[in-house]
Amino acid sequence: MAHVDQKIEGMYQEVLKRNPGETEFHQAVLEVLESLGPVVSKHPQFLERKIIQRICEPERQIIFRVPWQDDKGEVQINRGFRVEFNSSLGPYKGGLRFHPSVYLGIIKFLGFEQCFKNSLTGLPIGGGKGGSDFDPKGKSDDEVMRFCQSFMTELYRHIGEHTDVPAGDIGVGGREIGYMFGQYKRITNRYEPGVLTGKGLTWGGSLVRTEATGYGATFFVNEMLKARKDSFAGKTCLVSGSGNVAIYTIEKIHQLGGKCVACSDSNGVIYDEKGLDLDLIKQIKEVERRRVSDYAKTHKHAKYIAGGNIWDIPCQVAMPSATQNEINGKDAVTLVKNGCIAVGEGANMPTTPEGVKVFLDAKIAYGPGKATNAGGVATSALEMQQNAGRDSWTFEYTEKKLEDIMVNIHSNCFETAEEYGAPGNYVIGANICGFIKIANAMVAHGLV
Ligand code: NDP
Repeated sequence: MAHVDQKIEGMYQEVLKRNPGETEFHQAVLEVLESLGPVVSKHPQFLERKIIQRICEPERQIIFRVPWQDDKGEVQINRGFRVEFNSSLGPYKGGLRFHPSVYLGIIKFLGFEQCFKNSLTGLPIGGGKGGSDFDPKGKSDDEVMRFCQSFMTELYRHIGEHTDVPAGDIGVGGREIGYMFGQYKRITNRYEPGVLTGKGLTWGGSLVRTEATGYGATFFVNEMLKARKDSFAGKTCLVSGSGNVAIYTIEKIHQLGGKCVACSDSNGVIYDEKGLDLDLIKQIKEVERRRVSDYAKTHKHAKYIAGGNIWDIPCQVAMPSATQNEINGKDAVTLVKNGCIAVGEGANMPTTPEGVKVFLDAKIAYGPGKATNAGGVATSALEMQQNAGRDSWTFEYTEKKLEDIMVNIHSNCFETAEEYGAPGNYVIGANICGFIKIANAMVAHGLV
């Protein structure tokens, strides 16, 4: 609390009081509010119009029952969420997460972050997030389909191409988006590609969407390195996770001349000193939906560390791409001590506040998730543009657009940090830059 400006401190206390028990949401709010002191001093109208208090309160929160039947015919009940956080810059936009750890506090932290991230992309999208405590792991395709159909049977009435446009996140990939799109189409009798992003390429999807978050995060880190007259060439890298974001982060690191030596899942870490064989990882994770431990069965020289901590492995670049709070203060100290010079967050809020402090104090290049991983939602917005124009762009054209967006986000964050007297601090740059655009739009729209 020591770092929150006096004018803002009471607002944070109010958030704690109004949202008891939602620790991840508190963490995400605090991290933004810590940056805003100089902004409200410069723009007193934001205080008068109570912009911060309004931004911290979602416009709408929907919680619903999702009943479905498993393969044995047994009835299962999960809880569904959609938090429509802020629509001042465009329709609510943000992914759906299916993971047993999901509860309102997780969805609200993700929705809150999403508002600033979407603002940073420069594209016309507001912020939202949703999901369920459903665990797709170990479920059959049919079970996943029945769950998705039940989930969409409630969600459909809240979404639409001009209202709210969900996408994927942890546990929600092309398969789940397909089942949800099918059910939306059936219920509404509308073929409305703009209602969901992350669609398959033959039915309204965009090239590069699958790769976008990982590629975008790597472009962002590349820009941070360039700003320090450095590059990925020859760098040893770590990427946690082995899902959508991790896989395409590894791919782009390798394309840019870096060597990624380890990735992970929630059971353990795979370490391959020679550099990870990405084709094998894709086969294991994307095609066969198995565990990273299987990598060492094919590649005997690689080491599988059951229950291991990936951040203990020495590296120069670390890209956490699994989940929230996966790097704590101790991990951050280890990374810095081992020679890490850049951290780019592919995941949302993967570093604890103690860890962030270590990175900032060490003055290494640290790219917070809301800036670094914005390439995913940016490419979702490009998918919406293609849907609206009934168009489909080439891979090269779309990837170039993604790269330009990431370069632009980097320079905006970099310049904003300098303007506010914190050169090289991308946390301050991203928070202020994302906030001001939303705040100005809210002032313009009046008290709504
Ligand atoms: P996936 O479901 O494709 O992969 C998630 C990976 O992280 C898996 O390897 C999973 O391992 C691991 N993981 C998830 N939860 C935990 C946990 N509690 N503990 C340890 N490991 C865990 O998800 P994505 O790759 O899409 O998402 C990864 C991160 O990136 C998330 O923070 C997400 O919010 C963020 N993100 C994703 C975007 C996207 O476009 N997909 C866009 C922007 C951010 P296991 O299989 O063992 O669970």
